[in-house]
Amino acid sequence: MTVAVYQGVDGAYSQLVADHYLRARAIDAQTLGVPSYRAVAAAVAGLRAEVGAIPIENAIGGTVREAYDLVAEFALVPLEEVLWRTDHRLLGVRGAALEGVREVLAHPLVIAECGKFLGGLARARAIPCEDTGVAAREVARGGNPTIAALAPAAAAQMYDLIELAANCADDPRAYSRFLIVRAAHLREGGPLEQVAPAARRKTSLIFSLKDAPGALARCLQHLAQGGVNVSKLESKPRLGHGTEHTFYADLDGDIADAAVATALAAIKRDAKTLVVLGSYDAHAGAPIGANDGPVRATVERIAETRHVRQPSVFPDAALPRVSRGARPEGSTLQIGGVRIGDGEFVIVAGPCSVESREQILATAHAVERRGAVMLRGGAFKPRTSPYAFQGLGWDGVALLAEAGRATGMPTVSEVMTIDQVERMASQIDVLQIGARNMQNFDLLKAVGRTGHPVLLKRGLSATLDELLGAAEYILAEGNPNVILCERGIRTFETATRNTLDLSAVPVLRERSHLPVLVDPSHGVGVRRWIAPLCRAAKAVGAHGLLVEVHPNPAEAKSDKDQALTFDDFAEIVADLERIPIAGPVTQR
Ligand code: PEP
Ligand code: MN
Repeated sequence: MTVAVYQGVDGAYSQLVADHYLRARAIDAQTLGVPSYRAVAAAVAGLRAEVGAIPIENAIGGTVREAYDLVAEFALVPLEEVLWRTDHRLLGVRGAALEGVREVLAHPLVIAECGKFLGGLARARAIPCEDTGVAAREVARGGNPTIAALAPAAAAQMYDLIELAANCADDPRAYSRFLIVRAAHLREGGPLEQVAPAARRKTSLIFSLKDAPGALARCLQHLAQGGVNVSKLESKPRLGHGTEHTFYADLDGDIADAAVATALAAIKRDAKTLVVLGSYDAHAGAPIGANDGPVRATVERIAETRHVRQPSVFPDAALPRVSRGARPEGSTLQIGGVRIGDGEFVIVAGPCSVESREQILATAHAVERRGAVMLRGGAFKPRTSPYAFQGLGWDGVALLAEAGRATGMPTVSEVMTIDQVERMASQIDVLQIGARNMQNFDLLKAVGRTGHPVLLKRGLSATLDELLGAAEYILAEGNPNVILCERGIRTFETATRNTLDLSAVPVLRERSHLPVLVDPSHGVGVRRWIAPLCRAAKAVGAHGLLVEVHPNPAEAKSDKDQALTFDDFAEIVADLERIPIAGPVTQR
């Protein structure tokens, strides 16, 4: 068994990095925590571990010189550089609250990275701790709600802690650099190096110079002449050698490159000492675990973003029934002859509103023949204007039920009030909770009490946490039959009716066992953009679609701009055949 060694205990960032490296290469390996960086180097050099992960630099705290020195001392071979975003969360035991925290255990570098956050906790003091894993473990062992740890989200899972705050670093771009190292005498080309070298290579050195004018400049000149970029340079006093300094440098390029080799040969002639640690694959792209999207440019923008990014209000521990852990294999709902969630891709179609017997029967037959398996139709319509068509009410419900029977399709329709729930459940197969009612908690409890299948739409500006929290209300009443539905959210974008958040699909499927449908009709609100988003929804792993179809969209009494014609619908269904059903959406 391959062993990857790191400094710390379970939950340390170094462990996450070691684990990431192994997984990226599909190496069946175990990570092993040891007490110090020296112990990491010794274990690797002594072949007790095939590979080690060691931090060499923190974007706030600077170079971890001891790590450079140990790579040199043990003649370790650097293989790869990993940039890891240090995404600190404040973790506490169950029952702890942010206001109650009096002590925060954290690695000294983490304390440095989270100065503003810690400053804001007026009644808490920071206590340095040897690593983030130890900090989390001590909090869990102590069981004291006034003591919390700054550690990554993974540590919360490992030690069964809850998140009291997220985004604790002053600068969300903060990261650490790690080197993956192996012993010099370990066979080259083994499983650790089976991946082709990265396009960009780096070389690290440690050198010392005579304490004389121009010595450093001459050295840098050799690099400049060869066109070699110096990406890092730092110095520290060379003990026992007067005022001389030792320099730690990283260069772009490989020792095998002629320009780098020539420059290093020249430096060797001028320098008092030179150790080339080796060349390795440079990290490509943003730090791992980084917030996707552009790096915020100014401090003001960061402050704004921190404000918007509220801490996750619902860590998985607060969603005992909805979170994936409650049913790791995933939930499948059986509604009439339709199964949702087990690998079939289901299409629910029908008009926004039931408008007449002819309209709903014609639509039901048309969509059923073209591939729909469930019929939708609103009878109680949540309209922005009180003067807009409000739906046919119970007459509409009866017509929808009739159309369902006529075509053999189960039906779905929205309930807006608690007193509609029982009667709707007696006629219709799936109770829809509309976006505007996603957090109508009494309504959620009422549909929860029925045990009837529920289609829960994401609120207009609801986070995924809030959607999952709403689902938890229904499950908490004893009703496990919930389908989540992404239907677009409000953003600054006005080109589309809403912004269809397809990233919700993998996130929801990772965090919850409940099936997920996508409603591109309300998501974009424009007929011609629905087809591509249907394809995207299937590709991204949705369990099915909810789309609006009308015999004559121009005449539709609600949502006419987004209604598909029967032909549009047929084309979409045919098109979807080309997209394979996505498997599990998350590779851990
Ligand atoms: C609907 O499905 O017709 C509807 C009103 O949807 P939402 O609640 O998502 O706006
Ligand atoms: Mn609609």
